[in-house]
Amino acid sequence: MHSKKRIALRGGFAIGGGAPVSIQTMTNTKTEDVAATIAQIESATQAGCDIIRASCPNREAASALREIVSNSPIPIVADVHFDYRLAIDAIESGAHCIRINPGNMGDVGIRNIVRAALDHECAIRIGINSGSVEQSIIQKYGEPNADAMVESAVINAKKLEDLGFENFKISVKSSDVKESVKAYRKLASIVDYPLHLGITEAGPLFPGSIKSAIGIGALLMDGIGNTIRVSLSSDILDEIKTARQILRSLGMLKNTVNIVSCPTCSRTLIDVISISNELETLCGDIRKDLKISVLGCVVNGPGEAMNSDIGIFGFSTGHAKIMVKGTEYGTFHQRKLMKEIKKIIDQL
Ligand code: SF4
Repeated sequence: MHSKKRIALRGGFAIGGGAPVSIQTMTNTKTEDVAATIAQIESATQAGCDIIRASCPNREAASALREIVSNSPIPIVADVHFDYRLAIDAIESGAHCIRINPGNMGDVGIRNIVRAALDHECAIRIGINSGSVEQSIIQKYGEPNADAMVESAVINAKKLEDLGFENFKISVKSSDVKESVKAYRKLASIVDYPLHLGITEAGPLFPGSIKSAIGIGALLMDGIGNTIRVSLSSDILDEIKTARQILRSLGMLKNTVNIVSCPTCSRTLIDVISISNELETLCGDIRKDLKISVLGCVVNGPGEAMNSDIGIFGFSTGHAKIMVKGTEYGTFHQRKLMKEIKKIIDQL
C-alpha cells in the first residue's frame, strides 16, 4: 500500500503518508559544471519535475553541490557509491537526500553517514538494483532476482533502523519489468517505508516508456509507490513527460490537461491526428484540470463531449462542433479550431 509512513527530505519536502506521488529525474551534466547543472535542473522543474538527483562521483562534484543546492528550486538527491566520505561531503554540502546502496559502503561508513544525515536532517534512499545486490545474497538465490533484492533491502533497512535512523525510502529496481513489480509488491508487504518506483535502464524512449508505464503503473494501481523515476536513454525532459503521463493516466496528477482522442477510421470527418497533436503542444504548459476530447465523427463524439470540459467532434467534412461543459459552443472549420480552443481555455 502507499506508505503510511511519511519521511521528509531536508527542508521538509514530504514523501509517503498521503503526500502526492512525486516525479524525479536525474541530471546528466557533469555535476562539477555548476552552471550547466543548475540550468538543467531549472528546465526539469519547468517541465514538472519535483525532485532531482545528481551523481556525486568525486570531491569536486560533492563540493559543487553546495552551490547547486542553494540555487535549485527543487530538492536535490546526491547519488553516491562506494565511498562513504563522499556521501558525508554531499550531506555537508546541503543535499536534501542521498541515494546509497548501504551494501557497498561498509559498516563503519554507514555509521558515519547516518550520523551526518541525522545532524543535517538529510534523508536517505536505500537504492537496491539487481546489478548491485551483495554477493552473499546472490549466492543464496543463484541470481539477483526479486527475492534477492528484497532481502538486501530489508537487511539494509534494518541496519539504518539499528542506528536510530528511519528517515529513508527504498527502491528495488530491475531492468526486468516483472521482477521489479514482484520485488516492490513483496517489499511493500514487509515494510512501511515510502517506496521510490522505477524500472532501471528501461531503454530508449519508446520501449522504455512502455516498460516504465507497465511496471510503475501496475504498482501505483496496487496502491504501491510514493515517488517515481522513469529511466530512459533519452533527454531527461522525456523522462518527466513520461512520468507525468503515467500519473495523469491514473488520475494522480493535479492541474493537468487530459486529452482524449479517437484512433480515426473511415468515418473520420476532421484531421483528428493533427488536432490532437497540436492540442498536446498547446496544453503542455497549462496547469489546469481539464479534459478535452477530440473525436472524428458523431458516433461517439457527442457522448464524449458531454463528459469533457471541451468536446470537439467531426460534424461535417472539415468542420467540427465544439461543446464547452456540455453546452454547444459552435461549429468551426478545422483550420479555425485552435484559435477558438485557446480562447475557451483562457476563459475557463
Ligand atoms: S469516433 Fe468516429 S471517427 Fe473516431 S474512430 Fe470512432 S467512429 Fe471512427
